[in-house]
Amino acid sequence: MAKRDYYEVLGVPKNASKDDIKKAYRKLAVQNHPDRNPGDKTAEDRFKEATEAYEVLADDKKRQAYDQFGFAGVEGMGGAGAEGFSHVFHDFEDLFGGFGDFSSIFDSFFGGGGRRSGRGRSSVQRGADLRYELEIPFKDAVFGTKVEVSYSRNISCTTCSGSGAASGSGKKTCPTCGGAGQVRRSSGFFSIASTCATCSGEGYVLDNPCATCGGSGVVKKNQVIKVTIPAGIENGKRISIPDQGDAGPNGGPAGDLYVVIRVAPHEYFERNGNDVYCVVPVSFSQAALGAEILVPTLDEKKVRMKIPAGTQNGKILRLKNEGVPNLHNPSRRGDMYIKVHVVVPTKLSSRAKQLLKELGEVDGEDSTPNPIPLSQLG
Ligand SMILES: [Zn+2]
Ligand SMILES: [Zn+2]
Repeated sequence: MAKRDYYEVLGVPKNASKDDIKKAYRKLAVQNHPDRNPGDKTAEDRFKEATEAYEVLADDKKRQAYDQFGFAGVEGMGGAGAEGFSHVFHDFEDLFGGFGDFSSIFDSFFGGGGRRSGRGRSSVQRGADLRYELEIPFKDAVFGTKVEVSYSRNISCTTCSGSGAASGSGKKTCPTCGGAGQVRRSSGFFSIASTCATCSGEGYVLDNPCATCGGSGVVKKNQVIKVTIPAGIENGKRISIPDQGDAGPNGGPAGDLYVVIRVAPHEYFERNGNDVYCVVPVSFSQAALGAEILVPTLDEKKVRMKIPAGTQNGKILRLKNEGVPNLHNPSRRGDMYIKVHVVVPTKLSSRAKQLLKELGEVDGEDSTPNPIPLSQLG
């Protein structure tokens, strides 16, 4: 068939607008749709011809080249062939929204490149990733530990080796869709294709499904694994354990297991990055005169700490390297910050009362104090 002028093919004038070109092509494509004209070679050719014309005229660059040099101008610019139909696929919804089976027509005419249908979907799928929330004590997050985790996952069925088929049986073409993976139902002039429910679009069904797994190729199994919690792990971090998720159906590879760490709060310690905060009480006289006290650390050992004379309530003192080990370099640790809480005595002996009274008199207490600037408070 001799090539006809693209404008002639679409039946539009040389100065036609993009919109007119689109409308003209849509009309022709629908008219010559092979489903409407079964076995009609002329309609099929018209359909292809119109698509090629549209592909060129819908593209400003190609249209300009065509206007200037004719067919030679668009040669090698992807005027035809699956790769060339970028405009049709780009404008697909706009052009053919509601006519569901156009994409399969493009596939069969132009050798793919259109939108993929359900057919041929890989039957070997990766299994699902699983998520396990694990709460661990504060100290375990600091120093690391090993925890046994018990969970349920899909594993490959041993009866059928994951194939889903009973021994000696195989697969047969899906009786519902005849192997196409799609079923068509009529809607006006057009048939709409949808994924076959019987075979989920695979195109085949099992002759005789395995009795153990019901044909899925996987069975649920409870599993216990040991998870290593690294020292210094933070709340919310996840540890991935490869291949310990669900096995894939039909012998597909397993997904991963993600253990999400929840660190339980500690009674005394609070963490900020790799530093740790702790509040310790000191008496009024210790704060005033200075003292050496033993403070708790993460390692359970008590560490000597100097309270300087005149330490105010709320003062924060630092103990170097008594914090949380660095996750990537455990020999390096954060610091421990001790917040001094000066305790006002509530149960006073008469002797203590006497001494405090004297102290007040010696100090010359101020009954009209000036406020402390907020900037001076730590
Ligand atoms: Zn089917
Ligand atoms: Zn099985």
